[in-house]
Amino acid sequence: MPSSSVTDLSAALADGSVQVIDLTQPLSESTPVLVLPEPFANTPHLSRRTLSRFDDAGPAWAWDVLELGEHTGTHLDAPIHWITGREREDVASIPPARLVGPARVIDRSAQVAADNGYLLSAAEFEAEEREHGPIEPGTWIFFRTGWGARANDEAAFLNAGPAGPVTPGPDVSGARWLADHPNVVGFGVETVGIDAGAAGGFDPPFPVHNFLLGRGRYGLTQLANLEALPLSGALVVVAPLRLVGGTGSPSRVLAFTPR
Ligand code: MN
Repeated sequence: MPSSSVTDLSAALADGSVQVIDLTQPLSESTPVLVLPEPFANTPHLSRRTLSRFDDAGPAWAWDVLELGEHTGTHLDAPIHWITGREREDVASIPPARLVGPARVIDRSAQVAADNGYLLSAAEFEAEEREHGPIEPGTWIFFRTGWGARANDEAAFLNAGPAGPVTPGPDVSGARWLADHPNVVGFGVETVGIDAGAAGGFDPPFPVHNFLLGRGRYGLTQLANLEALPLSGALVVVAPLRLVGGTGSPSRVLAFTPR
């Protein structure tokens, strides 16, 4: 068999020198979902009903029907999710090559532990790129916050305070930096949404959604295991359903990392 980058990767997976990390949170009835204030519509929690379970309705097989929102659990935001991207791609139209690429991690776990509403600025993204090298074409930027540790406790995960949710995310300058960078394809977070909890009060509101999706890039939420990724050097595979007209989709997200 001729050697190639692909056969080399297969060999590295087989001998364990490259590992597969699952960046997906388990998806179940208890998966936390976003809560919007009145008068906005809210997405339901996942629910399922049994079609058969080795019974008269299906003696040798078990299967269920799911109800869940497009934006439930670890999921992708497609450009048409936001009004600024409404003329752009639905989930089904995203070119597959855009769903596979290098991952760069910006770690603010310590800052977020001290300040749950921590806001990430353009200057911090710029400093990260200076320190760790140029961001390659097709890169997914992941915001490591430690928030994934709350994923099994909806109240702690949503962290609603008297003035609204208190969760970390980019400020307006950080959102603009992500959307303006020619090599950034997507932005992924551990929290329930790609914007900070306070972002409804920013100018413009929800700037990551506004700028990033408006420029035809993608969001990823509720990621798991970001602490297992190197700051650079991992390869990510994002696998949403190819849902025609979909504004988003629950996604399996996997990373290849050197041991
Ligand atoms: Mn979403």
